[in-house]
Amino acid sequence: MAEKTLFSKIIDREIPADIVYEDDQCLAFRDISPQAPVHILVIPKKPIPSTSAILPEDAELVGHIFCVIARLAEDNGIAKSGYRVVSNCGPDACQTVPHLHFHVLGGRGFAWPPG
Ligand code: 5GP
Repeated sequence: MAEKTLFSKIIDREIPADIVYEDDQCLAFRDISPQAPVHILVIPKKPIPSTSAILPEDAELVGHIFCVIARLAEDNGIAKSGYRVVSNCGPDACQTVPHLHFHVLGGRGFAWPPG
């Protein structure tokens, strides 16, 4: 069996995190090293390694996660000002944790294109 990722350990409460939302399919918690006033990570409980490993059978799950993101943006006061959703995939994108996650960043302005 593959070793548990850091994020699977957070799901199983083996590592503490500032959890802001949970349901049967996903978990959201504050990033330990926030890059903006609001920086939340939203992850599926299913251990999908990255966006590249999303299967057609995961479509409903991924859609659900985006509904949760919209709700979190509203609850954290960034829905109107704007926010960025990022999923780093693979080495060129600097993915460090091999468990699908969506960064929800807001509360300041962002540049485009990203670095
Ligand atoms: P990635 O670089 O893979 O896109 O994002 C991983 C994110 O996980 C980083 O933003 C990093 O700060 C965050 N992170 C790493 N370790 C922990 C931890 O133990 N707890 C929390 N809450 N976030 C973490």
